[in-house]
Amino acid sequence: MNIAIAGTGYVGLCTGVCMAHTGHYVTCVDIDEQKINLMKSGKSPIFEEGLEELMTLNNERLTYTTDYINAYQNADIIFIGVGTPEKKDGSANLSYVYNVAKQIAHNVTKDCVVVVKSTVPIGTNDKIENFIKSELKKPVTIYVASNPEFLAQGTAIRDTLHASRIVIGVENQYSENILRQAYNGFKDIPIVVTNRRSAEMIKYASNDFLALKISYINEIANLCELIGADIQEVTNGMGYDERIGDKFLNAGIGYGGSCFPKDTKALHWLASFHDYEIKTIKAAIEVNEQQKFKLFKKSRKYYESLEGLTVAVLGLTFKPGTDDLREAPSLVNVPLFVDDGAIVKVWDPVGSEAFKNAMEREHNSELNEKVEYCDKIEETLKEADICFIFTEWPEIKALEPKDFNNMKDVIILDGRNCYDLNVFSGKNIKYESIGRSLIS
Ligand code: NAD
Repeated sequence: MNIAIAGTGYVGLCTGVCMAHTGHYVTCVDIDEQKINLMKSGKSPIFEEGLEELMTLNNERLTYTTDYINAYQNADIIFIGVGTPEKKDGSANLSYVYNVAKQIAHNVTKDCVVVVKSTVPIGTNDKIENFIKSELKKPVTIYVASNPEFLAQGTAIRDTLHASRIVIGVENQYSENILRQAYNGFKDIPIVVTNRRSAEMIKYASNDFLALKISYINEIANLCELIGADIQEVTNGMGYDERIGDKFLNAGIGYGGSCFPKDTKALHWLASFHDYEIKTIKAAIEVNEQQKFKLFKKSRKYYESLEGLTVAVLGLTFKPGTDDLREAPSLVNVPLFVDDGAIVKVWDPVGSEAFKNAMEREHNSELNEKVEYCDKIEETLKEADICFIFTEWPEIKALEPKDFNNMKDVIILDGRNCYDLNVFSGKNIKYESIGRSLIS
């Protein structure tokens, strides 16, 4: 099939590359010329395990371009994978999706199915179909289908090639057939066919359930700290129950990333729009906002303020395996440390550059100048008065107590429960994590 994909972010590029891997000819379209040039030279603009290798392997079936006219003219199927970021009021910003819809409507020259992969509020697919029909320049038939994406950053390629399910939201048999053909090479993955609104809802309901699970377990962890229980023992015991499952029960300093924060807020906004309050999601959002400050609050036990202290920060990205900083707890904490008067040294294996840019964008250069970006963990910890851990990168998890010996005072506040309490219980270490007993 001749496939065009609008947007070469985490979703668009991974989908495009995996579609090419199963034998389709794929044109990846983006408005960002720099990204396109990078991909043309064989490099991926995002850090995702196995992506660059698959780009090379399927090079002959992949085209990268900013020329959307040509790409959409010749496609049998066009996937939309552009961003739907959060607006100030919490609703989803659909302007990127509508821009693509307009570009498609003005340029298609043959019948095709437009597939919305971006996460969009329930009812959007209907509106996009009407919008495209009203903007068409040629007498062609366009159907819109919903095909939400469930990949997780850090495991995006594996999640795409071995997805738990492929959800297809359609209003006619023709669209279903075309989508089944597109996914023909994805073996042994259940295909769930629904109407468009249900497909859109499956995406929000799934993401928000996962966010809820994290906020729930974070609250249980907070209570564990107060009553002397150990969250890891608790979740281990809970996980044996198949109705609960043992996944997504890791307590920490809260979820981040480009999806959970915005998708919880978007569903909450949508419910309010329909005069309904979705209380569980509201609670998940509130708990997560608070959880991000958990380590900062803990630091007050050791220092009244961070004024004049050297603070080491290990891990910046919202989770390991990605260079994505969106909504990462580090982004709210590092400015807080600087404002509190600290000299902040940070380390991350892939996220430092993106962090620097985000700090400049969301705060200011003056604040950013107070942050020292280190190449090595050892250099970050040297002479530090306190260490905060925000991401469980393997390099950080592999550290042993002796690796912290070059700190001035070994106070480790671990937001991702990286270490065994028994191992990090030496006399000279003050180690605190989330939901586990304090050993000092
Ligand atoms: P992203 O921000 O990484 O990438 C979006 C890309 O679209 C950018 O490269 C941008 O330049 C490009 N773009 C914008 N306008 C364009 C246009 N008119 N034509 C072509 N390209 C254009 O986004 P993402 O993280 O891949 O997310 C995309 C969508 O998928 C969102 O709705 C998101 O909620 C959803 N989603 C994301 C994930 C994830 O883990 N990132 C998982 C599932 C679903």
